[in-house]
Amino acid sequence: MSQDDNLELLNTFAHDMKTPLGAVLHYADLIQQVGPLNESQKKFLDRITANADKMLALVKDLLAFAQLENDRTLHVADVHLGEMVQTILTMLDAEIAAKRLTVSVTIAPSVGTLQADVRRIQHVLQNLLSNAVKYNREGGEVRFVCADDGDTVRITVQDTGIGIPPRALPRLFEKFYRVKQPKSQPIEGTGLGLAIVKHAVDMHGGQVWVESEQGKGTTFTVLLPRVSALARSQAQSGELLDGVDDDRQEPQDASDNDSPLG
Ligand code: ADP
Repeated sequence: MSQDDNLELLNTFAHDMKTPLGAVLHYADLIQQVGPLNESQKKFLDRITANADKMLALVKDLLAFAQLENDRTLHVADVHLGEMVQTILTMLDAEIAAKRLTVSVTIAPSVGTLQADVRRIQHVLQNLLSNAVKYNREGGEVRFVCADDGDTVRITVQDTGIGIPPRALPRLFEKFYRVKQPKSQPIEGTGLGLAIVKHAVDMHGGQVWVESEQGKGTTFTVLLPRVSALARSQAQSGELLDGVDDDRQEPQDASDNDSPLG
C-alpha cells in the first residue's frame, strides 16, 4: 500500500470513528438527565465518559495528522503569534490552574506577523505548549519566548517538568513514539504531537530541536522563516496566492480546531 493509501485509510477510519464516539458521549450525558443515578451507576458512567473522551482525543489526533500529511500545500496568511498563544493558553487554563503553573509569554515587538500557514503554526504551538503543561510538575513554570532573528523568528517553549532521558531524544519526533519512563507512564498521549510539529516546521523550511535534562525540564526551539521558501515558490507558480484561496484559510481561533493537544 502506498503512503497516500495509508493516509486515506487513516483519514476514513478516524472520520468513521468520530461520529459513533460522539454519540456514546452524548448518550452518556443524556442518561444523567433522565433520572437519578445511584453512586455505582454514576461511577461507571464517569468511567465510560472518561474512556470515550480518550478515544475521541486519539481519533482527532489521527485525523489531524492524516489531514496535515495529506495536504502538501502551505495556505499562507498573516500569523499573529501573540493572539494565537493567548487563545491556546485559554484552552489550557483548567490544566494550568490545576497544576498551579506560572506561565509567561514574551514576544519581541519587532517580531510582528509571520507569513505562514495559520493552521499548521497553530498545531506547532498547541502541541509544544500543551506538552509543556502536561509533562510539567505541580507548581512549575512554562515560558514562551519569541525573538526576532532577522529573516527568521526564534520560538522557545521551556518547562520545568519531568524532562526527557538522553536515549529518547533522537526518536522524539517520530510518529507514535512515546518515552517510556515511570513519570510519564500515567500521562495520556498518542505520540503524534511532535511528529505533527516537525512536519509543519519542515514544510515552512524551519528547524525544530529539543534540549532536556531529566527532572529539571525541557526546552523546544523552533526557527521559522518570516516567509517560507515553499510559500514563495507556490505563489510564483500560481499554486497559491495569498488571500485568493480564501475557502482554504483556517480560523485562527484554536477552539475551532479539530485537533486535540499534544
Ligand atoms: P504525546 O501525545 O505522547 O504527548 P508527543 O509526540 O507530543 O506525544 O510527544 C512524544 C513524547 O515526548 C511524549 O510521549 C513524552 O514522553 C515526550 N515529551 C514531549 N514533550 C515533552 C516535554 N515538554 N517534557 C517531557 N517529555 C516530553
